[in-house]
Parts: sequence; C-alpha cells; structure tokens
Amino acid sequence: MDIGILGGGIAGLSVALALHKQGHRCRVYERRAAPSVMGAGVTLWPNAGFVLQELGLLEDVGAAGGRPMSVRRMDAAGESLGGLDITLLDQIMGYPTHTILRRDLQMVLLDHVTRAGIPVQFGHRAVAIELDASGNAVARFDNGQSIRPDLLVGADGRMDSVARRFVAGDNTPVYQGFVNWIGVAQGKGALVSAVGIQDYWGSGDRFGCVAIRKDLVYWAAAQARPLPAAAPAAEMHNEVRDLFSGWPEPVARLIDATPVHSVQRIAVHDLEPLPTWRRANVLLVGDAAHAPLPTSGQGACQALEDAWHLARCLAGADGELDERLLRFAAVRGPKTTKLAEQGRMFARGLFATDPETCRIRNERAKASDPVRDALAMAAGWSQGLPMAERIERAAPNSVGSMYRL
Ligand SMILES: Cc1cc2nc3c(=O)[nH]c(=O)nc-3n(C[C@H](O)[C@H](O)[C@H](O)COP(=O)(O)OP(=O)(O)OC[C@H]3O[C@@H](n4cnc5c(N)ncnc54)[C@H](O)[C@@H]3O)c2cc1C
Repeated sequence: MDIGILGGGIAGLSVALALHKQGHRCRVYERRAAPSVMGAGVTLWPNAGFVLQELGLLEDVGAAGGRPMSVRRMDAAGESLGGLDITLLDQIMGYPTHTILRRDLQMVLLDHVTRAGIPVQFGHRAVAIELDASGNAVARFDNGQSIRPDLLVGADGRMDSVARRFVAGDNTPVYQGFVNWIGVAQGKGALVSAVGIQDYWGSGDRFGCVAIRKDLVYWAAAQARPLPAAAPAAEMHNEVRDLFSGWPEPVARLIDATPVHSVQRIAVHDLEPLPTWRRANVLLVGDAAHAPLPTSGQGACQALEDAWHLARCLAGADGELDERLLRFAAVRGPKTTKLAEQGRMFARGLFATDPETCRIRNERAKASDPVRDALAMAAGWSQGLPMAERIERAAPNSVGSMYRL
C-alpha cells in the first residue's frame, strides 16, 4: 500500500517504521522546515520499551537516554511522600524504562527512518483534506502540492490537527486548568545525586525533575491557573524561578542551570475521547487521536503502541482496509480512553488547592504500597501487549495506580 503520513513526530515516524517493515511504501510529510529541537524530555515506560525493541530502536534510545531507578515523591517542604521502584516495574514488565530528551528521541527515530529509505518531506504543512470522486482522501499542503495515498495517516498532533478536523469535525482540545514550564538543565558537574525521577507536590503546583544523567536533567514545573495569554519567552525563566524559589533543592539549582531562553510555558490541553478515528481511508494516530494530559505519563508511549498495533491490524490478507482500521480503533480505544481519564483524575488531585484535600492526597501517597503500585501500573500499561497475560496472572484485580509523573 502507498501510505502518506501527516506529521513527523513520535507517532508519525514510528508508524512509518512499523509499516515499512511490513513492506508498505510510506512517506512522511512534516510542516516544520527541519527536525524539531523543541521540548524537554519524555519518560518511555516499559510498554514503550517493548515497542522500541520490536522496531529495533531500543539500543539507540538506551544509548541516547538514561535508565531511571526510582520515582521519589516529596511535598513542597521536602518531606517524603513515598515513591516507586522503577527497576521493579521494569522487571515485572520485562522491558526497560528510559528517560530521553525529546530532540534525541526525534533524532533516533529520524535516523532509523532515513536508513530504512523512508522519505520525510519537511516544509509540508497539510492545510486541507477532501474526498475525490471515488471517495479517496486527497491531502493538500501549503506549498501547493497534494497527495492521494491508499491510506492517509493523521499524526499531526494534539492542538490543531487537520486530519482530526476531517475525521471528527470540530474537535477542539480542552484546557485543563494548569500550565507547564519545561526546561533542560545541563550542569558542569552533577545536578542531582542519582539518575531517577523526583516529584515535588505543592498546593496547586508541582515540580518534577527527570535525570537522564546526573548532570543532564529535564524538568516540568506546573501550576493551576486560568488560561494565560501568550508571554515573551524571555519572561518564563524569571516567572518559574520566582514561583518555585522556596522549594527544596535541586529545584532552584535546576532552574539556574537551564539556559534562560530555552524555558517554554505550555497551557496544557487534552482531548475528549473521539467517537471515531477513521473516515474513508484516513486514520488518526497518536495525539491527533487521543492526546492525554502529561500527568498520564503515557502520551508518547501510546503513540508508539499505536505504531505496533496498526502494523498488526494491517498485516495479513484478512478483510478490507475499512475493517482493519475499525479493528485498530476497537483495540486502541478503551486503553487510551482510560489513560486519558486517569491523567485527568491525577491532575485534579495534584492541582487541588484546598489544604484538606492536599493533606489527604499526601497521606494516601505516603501510605501507598510500592510493590502493589508497581504491579498495578504494570497491569494497566501492559494491556493489549504480549506481556499482559503473564502480568495479569501475577497481579489479579490490579487497579491503575494514581501516582506517576
Ligand atoms: C510537558 C509534557 C511532558 C510530557 N511527558 C511525557 C512523558 O514523560 N512520557 C510520555 O509518554 N509522553 C509525554 N508527553 C506526551 C507526548 O509528548 C505526546 O503524547 C507525544 O509527543 C505525541 O506524539 P505525536 O507524534 O502524536 O504528536 P507530536 O509530538 O505533537 O507530533 C506531531 C507532529 O506533526 C507535525 N504537524 C502538526 N500539524 C501538521 C500539519 N498540518 N501538517 C504537517 N505536519 C504537522 C508537528 O510539527 C509535529 O512534528 C508529554 C507532553 C507534555 C506536553
């Protein structure tokens, strides 16, 4: 099949790799003029580790990224609120967790796509999709070009997806009441004492730090507030520094070790579950289909899972394209919807400002059982993947854990 993919992010490039391996002719169309160096980092949990292994990417992601050992939760005064043993989670799921800068993940994906001979056309912003006389989709770009592939995959992200407008009508992302400031701190020496995740919970605010190496740490600060107007990038560093000035180290150290102009502020949106991900021969994947809040910890992991599942649904000779795309949505819908709900639920607790709600939340976190939490996360995140049955046997009746970065 000729497959056109709109968007060269995590979903678009991983779908291209997975479908190319099955003999399809893929071509990726990306609006940016060059590979993106934007953003901070992502944590790729073991369900993503499985897909990376299947796509032959795991070794390179491991070489470019870090291997976190634990999550340590604390309140804004530095008192421990328990944590998670990531090595145990990895052991249960059978695949590693990696932390990686977004630009490095993009480079690994792009390198593999290029080596596979898959063309990536930069400077192609899709502006419209319409149906031709035979009912097939035609995508038009702002440079005047157009394509008419057998399958058009919409991997054009959460905020303004042309493919989502075509498939689902007017689907506007929902502002969820908090902003993130993100940055990457690079030290001359160690900035943190261990390669792991440190998560500080305040009242209506949060600071999460994720080490790739001890001297390379990406971070995300967050605060509940009404949808803000855009502000100059130069002000962001001061804003986040002032807001988190009284928080325990390494918070101030990390902000100070972050180049002033690289701090970004994001008004965080997610999507309501869509009634469909398919129209004619157009299919949505990744954030275009099911963008969860960052508090789910799973957006990029689910984009990677989409690639693996789509390749399976398109494999073999069973059924028309229509049926296969419906099968893909049926397999992926329930898990991604549940993760999006969990992301919202976690955000509600995290950004509560009422002191009693925060106290109860913190007490619950302190009392949580790290082994039970690891089993519950493994049970939820493995759903639909080959390791699920083995994990379900080890952890019957597990419920999704609430506490993750
Ligand atoms: C602060 C923050 C922290 C996060 N942390 C994590 C984490 O730790 N773990 C995790 O799993 N997930 C995390 N996520 C979520 C993750 O970043 C997303 O779910 C993931 O990037 C989705 O990949 P995607 O390819 O679908 O979308 P994107 O990464 O947004 O890629 C979409 C691509 O499409 C291109 N595009 C857009 N419109 C067009 C167009 N019209 N024509 C052509 N190209 C177009 C864009 O330029 C972009 O390259 C985080 C998100 C945020 C905001």
